[in-house]
Amino acid sequence: MELLDKQSIWQVRNSYLGVYVHFPYCFKKCDYCDFYSEGIGPSPANDEKSLFQSYQKEILERTKHFPEIKNRTIDTVFFGGGTPSKASSESWKELLGFLRSEFAFAEDTEISIEVNPEDLSEKLLEEYHSLGINRVNVGVQTFEPKGLEFLGRHYDRERYDSLVNVLTHSPIKRVGIDLMYGIPEVSQDSFYRDLNLFLQAGLPHLSLYSLTLEKGTQYSRDVTDHKKKEPEENIQSDILTNLPVLLKKHGYLWYEVSNYAKPGFESKHNLKYWTYEPYLGIGPGAHGMIEGHRYGNPRNSSLYQKKQTNTKYEPADPSTELSLTLFRLFSPFRYLDFIDAYLDAGAKDKYLRTIEGWEKKGLCSIESGVFQWKPAALLLLDDLILEISL
Ligand code: SF4
Repeated sequence: MELLDKQSIWQVRNSYLGVYVHFPYCFKKCDYCDFYSEGIGPSPANDEKSLFQSYQKEILERTKHFPEIKNRTIDTVFFGGGTPSKASSESWKELLGFLRSEFAFAEDTEISIEVNPEDLSEKLLEEYHSLGINRVNVGVQTFEPKGLEFLGRHYDRERYDSLVNVLTHSPIKRVGIDLMYGIPEVSQDSFYRDLNLFLQAGLPHLSLYSLTLEKGTQYSRDVTDHKKKEPEENIQSDILTNLPVLLKKHGYLWYEVSNYAKPGFESKHNLKYWTYEPYLGIGPGAHGMIEGHRYGNPRNSSLYQKKQTNTKYEPADPSTELSLTLFRLFSPFRYLDFIDAYLDAGAKDKYLRTIEGWEKKGLCSIESGVFQWKPAALLLLDDLILEISL
């Protein structure tokens, strides 16, 4: 099994908990963005203090609804958004202190924050480092100003120019960037120039997403009104197939369909979503899965702060959900253990039959209870996942 000696093999883990906190404010709402976020310009959010108080209130209430989660150990915390780097470091420090006072933390807990380029500086990284944040991800998307303009993203030239240098000298070593491909104003050459900046700097983590057209966004309205072009499909499939080969040459593991990392630098928090581990989702627009139940919070910050914590819990449905997440992994995982832990007899049978069919077609390997996709599966992935989930 290729790369198996270097790659971690993901497995069922029963006693841990992740925490995701959604900070919904950004400098500017990007045209393509489908997350719950609000553009508020350069100033801090007026309601930052009360929002952080509401986070604490929600954590206490979710714990009341599911007291069993207190028996779990937190091993990942993820501050996402929106733009969490827009909130003050002091607010994150207090929230982390609160979480530490309420839960047991694993010694090597991964504590991540998403940072937007306009906020990134040596000083900010030093602050984060001093409060125990040990992973930083920067939403770059593209270094091409025309591309950023197409996306309707805020562009701070000075910060974009210094970004790679600041990350290279960061006191926090677990750093990564997001890049996007398929942006009509960005040529394939320009995309590879961006990628080369990343590779030359040797940063340990890369998320690569394609531009997509999401209903209800400004971008989708602009495409309908013929003001903007649709995402570049041809460039997308070209890049998608080239990247695994290119990044492997530079020592990166392709561990999830859109994510690459140097060995040991995978995002432990995002792996929870893909391996069906429980997580508390806190904040407006956040989703969570705890003790086999899913919930979602209102996508409105003031409503979130005013209303009682939403108590609508839906039982999770592993027979469908497991397929949608687990089979996005391109690194190996103990599929028999996942199937045994989460599926009933009928679903188990279907999973096993489908997986054997894939193996016969040369799409995956299954050895000693360990599953791994072969590269040939990449362009068929959405259809393959549908096969197993229906
Ligand atoms: S910065 Fe990120 S979260 Fe905020 S609007 Fe843009 S894409 Fe959405």
